[in-house]
Amino acid sequence: MHGRFRESDLLRHLFETTVARCIADGLVSGQRFAADVSLIEADANKQNSTPRKDWDPGAIDSDGAPRAVREYLEVLDDAAFGAATTVKPKFTSHSDPTSQWTAAGKGPAFFAYSDNYLIDTDHGVIVDVEASRSILSAEVGASRTMLNRVKRRFDLRPERLIADTAYGSGKNLGWLVKRGINPHIPVIDKAGRTDGTWSRADFEWDARNNQYICPEGEALKQFRRNYSDPNRGPTGKGVAKYQALKHTCQACPSKMKCCPNADARKITLEEHEDARQVARDIAKTRQYDISMKLRKKVEMLFAHLKRILGLGRLRLRGPCGANDEFLLAATAQNLRKLAKTFPAPQKPKTA
Ligand code: SF4
Repeated sequence: MHGRFRESDLLRHLFETTVARCIADGLVSGQRFAADVSLIEADANKQNSTPRKDWDPGAIDSDGAPRAVREYLEVLDDAAFGAATTVKPKFTSHSDPTSQWTAAGKGPAFFAYSDNYLIDTDHGVIVDVEASRSILSAEVGASRTMLNRVKRRFDLRPERLIADTAYGSGKNLGWLVKRGINPHIPVIDKAGRTDGTWSRADFEWDARNNQYICPEGEALKQFRRNYSDPNRGPTGKGVAKYQALKHTCQACPSKMKCCPNADARKITLEEHEDARQVARDIAKTRQYDISMKLRKKVEMLFAHLKRILGLGRLRLRGPCGANDEFLLAATAQNLRKLAKTFPAPQKPKTA
């Protein structure tokens, strides 16, 4: 699996051949895509690892190191691996240092890689696959890498991307909306309140008029005066705060539900608020409910990957090894889809 064979990119070519065949056979419309990720255990264990405080990549002698360790050094500046975060992992494996020590699987922590899928939800065809480090920023980055690649390779530009809350940051929603992709993704809102009063998500962002509209239909504005001399007015730099009129809030029947301890309600504008509002508006539609059901298709593919194909633990080490195994498994899943959709013609029974 190493050396020239890997350098030829044969496995990627093989996988993309199955995608091209699925497109040619009408199994991919390229309209509705779903992205998700599954943790796959690496061939590494805690007994053979170093805790955070003692790990120093600079002390590794790359000449005498095994292949997986050399690959680790090569991807230290790669956004999908080493550069995905500045936070050092709690443990680093000696045999496969690129793998991530993670407890995201809700059970005991282990070393893992993330298998990222991008599927067309019409028939559950995998249109792209990518290995990444098992942390959120690398996984969200992998979804963008895959969207860019399917556009380049197959000219597929989905109308929507369906994904779970992990993909719902303002930055990611902004990236999608800018490219004309509708985010069917729950919005991450860190301004959520736990005391039962209305949070920012209950207010509607009105981009055209640069204001929020509260549930009682009143405007929360950043500036209320028109400054004829632009040097006199607020600069608009820094965090933008929006406020309702004091006398309106004082007379409001919903004040106790909105701002019980303040004279008037204030809201801070989040970055990419336009895109977040697009996602919130989509979340109120029937199409969104359909999308949430379609999202199960990618989860089913991961269940099949682990239970039927038996890819619960990687056999190869290093990011290239993980990528190869993920590509092979996705190829097998697409071939299975083709075989089930277009079964081989049966030989007529001879008497
Ligand atoms: S208290 Fe003010 S901001 Fe809140 S709902 Fe009433 S009018 Fe709107």
